[in-house]
Amino acid sequence: MEQGSDLQKLSGVTGSRRDSSTRKTKGTSPQSDVSGEKMEIAEKSSCSEPVGMVGPPLVQRPGIPTLPPRQLLSTLVVTPIGETIASSAQLQTLLESMIHPQNMGVDVLSCLPAANRGVLLCIRTPEMRYIIETAINIHTGLKDVCVAREPRGRNPRILVYDVPVTGGNRETEEAAFLQKLRYSNSISDETDIRALFWRPGRGPFQHWVPSVAPEYFHTIKDTNRVFFGFGSLKFREYLEPTRCYKCLKFGHLRANCGASQELCTKCTGAHSYKECTAPTVVCRHCTEYNRRRRTGPRVRTDHSAISVRCPIYIRERKKS
Ligand SMILES: [Zn+2]
Ligand SMILES: [Zn+2]
Ligand SMILES: [Zn+2]
Repeated sequence: MEQGSDLQKLSGVTGSRRDSSTRKTKGTSPQSDVSGEKMEIAEKSSCSEPVGMVGPPLVQRPGIPTLPPRQLLSTLVVTPIGETIASSAQLQTLLESMIHPQNMGVDVLSCLPAANRGVLLCIRTPEMRYIIETAINIHTGLKDVCVAREPRGRNPRILVYDVPVTGGNRETEEAAFLQKLRYSNSISDETDIRALFWRPGRGPFQHWVPSVAPEYFHTIKDTNRVFFGFGSLKFREYLEPTRCYKCLKFGHLRANCGASQELCTKCTGAHSYKECTAPTVVCRHCTEYNRRRRTGPRVRTDHSAISVRCPIYIRERKKS
């Protein structure tokens, strides 16, 4: 059901667009200037209310600014080899018992469950990542049961529509889906295909989003169906950045979220969007961006945090 509300929010994206365009035609109406933040942006972006002004205002509505790429923390994916390790939690426990980052001068900032019983480590610097990656891959107690590598962020992702649900837990569903996909399309074992997550589909079906090896993607990209058992399933390339609909950050999913509270998509408050009473929409990503960068150009904040117009979202999308 959690996933369902995510979808509602996704479809709410067009709604928020409409909201902001209505506001645009209203201009700087006094009631829209609730917070200081909004007031400042309204002053910068429009010179309406020409009190005693000569000639029409010349300042144009600014376009979406191009933001510099975000400085990424280094990440490392550790994936089990073979069947020895049954879950992400088990792998984490094993790594914690064998590897002691503090003795190597490595700061591991977080450890999250990842696809295929793996874990994703967030590490402070690329140098530290190299140290811990090497340590895992040469460790006598680890090198035969797991492998550490940089995430292959570049693999194309596809959304496969309406996959029949088998009724097992997430790991069983995932394994069954991948196995059938491989078998039905004669995809070799060496070809990298990973299930990333699923979304609710029609009725008893769910849409799966796997990442697929670029070589394989190349062979299917001009089609829109993959074989699946005695039938076939429709798919499209999936270009959305990974994002969490709980804390609204990019790069992880709700299932892996460490935040204690749901954050609002409509304002910067710590409540669900369903309970929001804020009179205007304010994007938390852009508010945060402006807050961190006290100098330099500011970005507009009058859109929802899940708007497709959000410059932070656009930057994430380019990255993926
Ligand atoms: Zn989150
Ligand atoms: Zn709110
Ligand atoms: Zn934004």
